[in-house]
Amino acid sequence: MTEENTHEQWAKLAAEFRPEGEAFIDGARTGAESGRTFASINPATEATIAEVARCTDADVDRAVRAARAAFERGDWSRADPATRKAALLRLAELIRADTEELALTESLDMGKLVAEAAAFDIPGTADVFAWYAEAIDKLYDEIAPAAQGNLAMIRREPIGVVGAIVPWNFPLEMASWKVAPALAAGNSVVLKPAEQSPLSALRLGELALEAGIPAGVLNVVPGYGEEAGQAIGRHPDIDCVAFTGSGEVGKLLLEYAGQSNMKQVWLECGGKSPNIVFSDAGDLDEVAELACFGIFANQGEVCSANSRLLVHESIADDLLRRITERAAKIRPGDPLDPESSMGALVDAGHADRVQGYIDQARSSAELLLGGNRVGIDGRGAFIEPTIFDRVPAGSPLAAEEIFGPVLAVQRFTDEDEAVRLANDSVYGLAASVWTQDISRAHRIADRLRVGTVSLNTVDALNPITPFGGVKQSGFGRDLSLHSLDKYTALKTTWLKY
Ligand code: NAD
Repeated sequence: MTEENTHEQWAKLAAEFRPEGEAFIDGARTGAESGRTFASINPATEATIAEVARCTDADVDRAVRAARAAFERGDWSRADPATRKAALLRLAELIRADTEELALTESLDMGKLVAEAAAFDIPGTADVFAWYAEAIDKLYDEIAPAAQGNLAMIRREPIGVVGAIVPWNFPLEMASWKVAPALAAGNSVVLKPAEQSPLSALRLGELALEAGIPAGVLNVVPGYGEEAGQAIGRHPDIDCVAFTGSGEVGKLLLEYAGQSNMKQVWLECGGKSPNIVFSDAGDLDEVAELACFGIFANQGEVCSANSRLLVHESIADDLLRRITERAAKIRPGDPLDPESSMGALVDAGHADRVQGYIDQARSSAELLLGGNRVGIDGRGAFIEPTIFDRVPAGSPLAAEEIFGPVLAVQRFTDEDEAVRLANDSVYGLAASVWTQDISRAHRIADRLRVGTVSLNTVDALNPITPFGGVKQSGFGRDLSLHSLDKYTALKTTWLKY
């Protein structure tokens, strides 16, 4: 039982772990055509865990040709939806059966707590595959209300070859949000995982084949963003790119599409989500508990992290005391130790970047907790949970996505000020609102320019509802039936009779 593994058991598994770093193209493992590799490094120990194929244009082209050939062959793209459903359900089961190894892979690759990966990331990934598998044979097409003697049919068809480019914070889960609906709809996929965390996606390719998804339908090309990622963005035979990552790269993908084949581009980019707490919030212990979860879970490396706490002046001191007490108990530790409450950041460069924001904020805001880089056994990219109060509006800490365990607190005195502060962001991914007044809850939710509002909770997320943003958080939605819009094209067929 994975959940019951002890620190010693995880450490032993890690010591014996030899993950495979070759690309997965046309149903087989393969090196990059150049023969080059890059090192996948464990940010908790700084040890190399695998040499990974450094794919470039030539490899992406090979993957796209395999994907297109599979699409034209039709054994997946034109298969009975019930056939695709059965294979995707098998894939979900294989993922569940492989939880231990996949969780270990995620933890060693990007520093997250192995116990959390085993409890949430891997089952969450399997759930997403199962959800789209179950959905796909229950979707009916349309017949338009045409005049007698006409049959006007509107059908959804797979779009063709989908390029999926994903980040490192939830490597397999983010991949599943693209790959599962794209495959369910009958597309072929070329998946590029982040260079910091390529290993679980490579294993997914193998599991998909084992589940009965034909060779060439799912291809995985690890590599650097400006090489393999750009090659996907510019490829003339990719029909759609589905991306999760930074706004900076999202904007580049729009350029690549314009300069190449006008492929569709769907962007899930960053966030700076406000957690708004009114004076009638109710149980402040619960608010404090979930505020900590909202910013410190996964080391704060969550696109929808509640990185801004907006709190009514009258309860600010009380709530901050409760939050700080709880956060002080969250200690970074060995990600393989089930007793650790926070893992390592994804790499040393990112930890330096987060520390830079912290150091810059010391002079303009009030540091309530943390603020330090720490080592476990003298090593690793660990940062303490950090809280700043009275963060000036417009300062980097209030405005920019830090993507680390750093909470920026601002105080407000009335609803208008709360909404103004909340919407004062280039991002619009998510928000939380705490109030016992149901009218106020809806009034505020209406005024927030975001994709998801969680009322009296944080980060409400489930395959049954769409996830994505407005403004520079991007456009298009992951999860729910709405994500199928990205991976299908409407075809109108008229018949005169
Ligand atoms: P990133 O944009 O640096 O990288 C994301 C992916 O893009 C990686 O696979 C990377 O290799 C690739 N890439 C980099 N340069 C590229 C280029 N020139 N052309 C094509 N591809 C390129 O982001 P990151 O640092 O891996 O992830 C953190 C970001 O992801 C944060 O901004 C976070 O908010 C965002 N994110 C968003 C969501 C969401 O659903 N909205 C979810 C998770 C993460």
